[in-house]
Amino acid sequence: MGDLSQNFSRHEFECKCGCGDNTVDSELLEILQDIRHQFGRSIKITSANRCRAHNKAVGGGIRSQHLKGRAADIKVGYTSPYDVQDYLLKKYPHKHGIGRYERFTHIDTRSGKARWDYR
Ligand SMILES: [Zn+2]
Repeated sequence: MGDLSQNFSRHEFECKCGCGDNTVDSELLEILQDIRHQFGRSIKITSANRCRAHNKAVGGGIRSQHLKGRAADIKVGYTSPYDVQDYLLKKYPHKHGIGRYERFTHIDTRSGKARWDYR
């Protein structure tokens, strides 16, 4: 049981540098909880909040949604990032930022729509 939703707690969203940034966008939380139910597998959030210093350290863009607490990079059990991406693209055809990487999937609740694939 999480302290934010059925399966998620705020500490999972904290910036990895230890600064304490832990904003959680409510729409993002709903999306993650939906993915959790859909796939029936635990989700590891590899990166959610990033302060400016940490974002720079990991090579994030200056307009990264991670800076706003609106983005999460996730691993869904052993599910392929392709399958997670596929689900999100079908569920949200007209909004959100959805990016597939080799080992995780990025989802964010930006205003507007963005799509990308890691090569
Ligand atoms: Zn930080």
